[in-house]
Amino acid sequence: MKLALHWKILIGMALGVLAGILLRNFSWGPEFISDWIKPLGTIFIRLLKLIAIPLIIASLIKGISDLKDISKFSTIGGRTIVAYLISTVIAISIGLLIVNMIDPGDKISDETLTELSQAYASDATKRIDSAQSQKTRGPLSFVVDMVPDNIFGAASSNGNMLQVIFFVIFFGVSLLLIDPKRAGPVKDFFDGLNDVILKMVDLIMLTAPYAVFALLAALVVETSNPDIFVALMWYALSVVLGLIAMIFIYLLVVKFVIGKSPIWFLKGISPAQLLAFSTSSSAATLPVTMERVEEHLGVEKEVSSFVLPVGATINMDGTSLYQAVAAIFITQALDFQLDFSDQLTIILTATMASIGSAAVPGAGMVMLVIVLEALGVPKETLMIGLALIFAVDRPLDMCRTVVNVTGDATIALLIGKSVGKLSEPKPKNWDDNLEQVR
Ligand code: ASP
Repeated sequence: MKLALHWKILIGMALGVLAGILLRNFSWGPEFISDWIKPLGTIFIRLLKLIAIPLIIASLIKGISDLKDISKFSTIGGRTIVAYLISTVIAISIGLLIVNMIDPGDKISDETLTELSQAYASDATKRIDSAQSQKTRGPLSFVVDMVPDNIFGAASSNGNMLQVIFFVIFFGVSLLLIDPKRAGPVKDFFDGLNDVILKMVDLIMLTAPYAVFALLAALVVETSNPDIFVALMWYALSVVLGLIAMIFIYLLVVKFVIGKSPIWFLKGISPAQLLAFSTSSSAATLPVTMERVEEHLGVEKEVSSFVLPVGATINMDGTSLYQAVAAIFITQALDFQLDFSDQLTIILTATMASIGSAAVPGAGMVMLVIVLEALGVPKETLMIGLALIFAVDRPLDMCRTVVNVTGDATIALLIGKSVGKLSEPKPKNWDDNLEQVR
């Protein structure tokens, strides 16, 4: 019997956790995992990142050049940005609601507070420093940053995805405006390139179950003291409950707005969700998200090739929800009084902070500094606050990245439906690829 890809990945994850738990009992275990097993996972993440920029270029050019008229593109663009903003504000509001109901900051003892703030002080300082370098920029720098001055320079870093998208849209629109005879070969080239890159995603995904085994085994041996999870249980629970509520909302949207079955949606997107969980990076997961949304959920390339890369960069519902919960938790735990207008500040700054967060592990925590500073938390307190949540940040990062990716996929479906670009999915069978490779 052929197992579906998401089951294979799940089995890989479970075995990885088991191997990690088992091997951490041996003195040589952690070193063995970091020398011989972890590199497999690292190579996998590198491969996914390797094809992210070429995939965006090929697929967005193909997407735009398939459009019959350009005005449709501005409709897609406008609706996407509005949908992203609305979903982020909903996520933050849910976070605020739950954290204000649970009050995790009041449930933490003074000893734990002192212990954690001492143990993680230096890690916290590093995050604050990275946030400072993001902050000292003018209000329009965000727009200026979107326009590259050298396309090869822009394409040389995965952090510049918006710059690449800007160039590609400009290029694609110009392609639509020239003589179709001249445009034909260029379009054919990018069509072919797009197929090649999607095949590369297929081939990389064949190794996914082994890679997640390696990633999770390494994570387990690197995790320090499990007792801390208990101390921070209420905080972690607030974040996780909020994230689950958010997934529930996406499923409601899938059912009642898009008119599809939530199970069908989850089956289609689950490999991307599992990779988001294992890698904590929506950027690394992007090629898989694009493949799943197009081939398994039937969103046409004209929509997905724009909505998903933009979403991976600016739409982080899970991250913004987490930032809201963490901000309230920290201020509560440190007896920093907040009033109602502060909650509005959180909605505003967490929206901006999640847009500014890079799609890589731990980025959400760096941008949390900006939310806390907007609330007037002094630098000293800020450091203690971040040290407080540092120990559980990685597992929460894994969970919020799942929500980030699921949110992008839901909105891709939503926009696809709204502009009539949803078709019957034509799923490929990953195992057929395996046969070909063999
Ligand atoms: N790891 C998250 C992502 O890549 C960002 C974050 O919240 O730290 O989506």
